[in-house]
Order: sequence, then C-alpha cells, then structure tokens
Amino acid sequence: LPQHPRLRIGPGDDAAVLSMTGLDDCVVTVDLLTDHVDFELAEVDPRRVGRKALAVNLSDLAAMASRPLAAVVAVALPRQGGQEIAVGLVEGMLPLAEKYQLAMAGGDTNSWDGPLVVSVTLLGALTARGPLRRSGARPGDRILVSGSFGGSILGKHLDFEPRVREALLLHERYDLHAGIDASDGLSTDLAHLAEESGCGAVVQREAVPISPAAGQLAARLADGSTPLDHALGDGEDFELILAVSPGEAEKILADQPLGVPLAAIGQFIPEPGLWQRQGDGPRQPLVPSGWEHRFR
Ligand SMILES: [Mg+2]
Repeated sequence: LPQHPRLRIGPGDDAAVLSMTGLDDCVVTVDLLTDHVDFELAEVDPRRVGRKALAVNLSDLAAMASRPLAAVVAVALPRQGGQEIAVGLVEGMLPLAEKYQLAMAGGDTNSWDGPLVVSVTLLGALTARGPLRRSGARPGDRILVSGSFGGSILGKHLDFEPRVREALLLHERYDLHAGIDASDGLSTDLAHLAEESGCGAVVQREAVPISPAAGQLAARLADGSTPLDHALGDGEDFELILAVSPGEAEKILADQPLGVPLAAIGQFIPEPGLWQRQGDGPRQPLVPSGWEHRFR
C-alpha cells in the first residue's frame, strides 16, 4: 500500500495511527456492501466492487463538502476464491485512494461460508466553511443537481465518479444552503433534504437531466415506465442535490464551474412534501420512488 503523510503507523500493527495536525473536527462515514444486494460478484470484476465500496463513502463525504483523509476496510470473503477477490478489491480501491489523496489506514479480512461483504469507513476533514448539511434549505431556494439521473443499474452504480472535488469547489466559491448525495434516488433524497430542512420541494419535470441510461433502461424494461420515471426514481446516481438562493443559483448556472453540468430542477417551498409540475401546470404530489435493492 502507498505511503501517506498522515499515516504515522499504517497497516501491519494492531491499529493505525493518523496524524491529525492542522485538523479540527473529523467527519466519519461507513457503508456496508453485500454480494447479491449491491453488486453481483458472479458478473462483475472484484476491482469494480472495491472501487464502488470506496466511492459510495467518498460520495457521502462529498455530500458533507469534506475532504477525504483516511479509509479502513473490513471484508468478509467467501471461502471459494477469497484470495483473488481480496486482491481485486484492493486493486480497485487504490486508484481512487490516490486520486483523492486518501490514506489506506488498515482493515480486517475474514473468510466465511457466506457471500462477499465489504465495509469501508472513511474519515474526512471539514474545510473552513464547515459541513454542508441537509437541514439548511429555505423556501424559495433553488434545487440544483449535478450530472444526469436514471438507469445507473446499467453501469454507473459501479463506475460513477464521487462528486468530491465538485462539492468542495462549490462550497468554497458559493453560498450553499444544503446538500445531499443522490444514493437512494433523486426523488427520495430530495424529499430527505426538504424534510430535514422543514420545508417542501417542487420538481419542474421538464428540467430534470435524464441520463441516456435512463432511456435505455425504460426501453429494455418496456413496462410503461418513462426515462423521467427512472431519472426521478432510480437509485445510485451519486450526484449532488443542492439548495441555494435564487441569486446564487443564477451565478452558479452562469459560471458552470464544474466539468459536469449543473442544472436547476425546481425550488423549495414552505409547505412540506414533495411536488412536481410540468411547465406552468398545477402542482401535483410526487411520490418518492427510491432505491429498492433490485438484484433480489
Ligand atoms: Mg448520503
């Protein structure tokens, strides 16, 4: 494993020691991924599984607008082929760790008669701007999103880029009121953000950025669901959903400061609940249709 300046004692001892020089509060997040629930090991290279296990955590740090510091990894390997799987998992994590200057601080590996289970815990540091919370949206704020939505099951759920740099840049340059990463689905996570902020949200249907994969999935399923349904409902896009004032939204949209596009898809309102509108049409309820683990 690569050296890291914060890693005073790395893997090999009973625990790791991280230098916290220059740091104040520490951000902590953990995720647990399981074969047949979050991926199908029979169908995917373990490297992509390792990458995803790290990336979903990075996405949560991004949602808090914090800088990644260090990771610890716990793995339960199936007895069959466990060694190769372990190597693959690490190989999948290392490029992301390097990209985000993350110290791989250690971990634990066991084997058992069950399926592959991977858990990653990440530590992060706040910037001088403090944490980006879910609870800061105000009525009148615009809903901004990065990238496009839907159909991630066709590949993006494994290969997505966590919006770490994007969140840090936006948080530094602009006044963001609230943020969340879209892990459970655009509608579900927007509802979480609105609820935590004590307000409601209206989605302007024609403004939602729909990914090509959403169209492909709708065509493939042919079950009457539209690409927009998938954009609103599918999970694991791992894009940012942000609340910003109208003036700040205008600036951000004019600047488009990221490599990935930012779009305004509606606004927050005083009345609680999740709503949708087409053009100038009447406001209708939008039922959050979020992520169900769909490999089962
Ligand atoms: Mg999250």
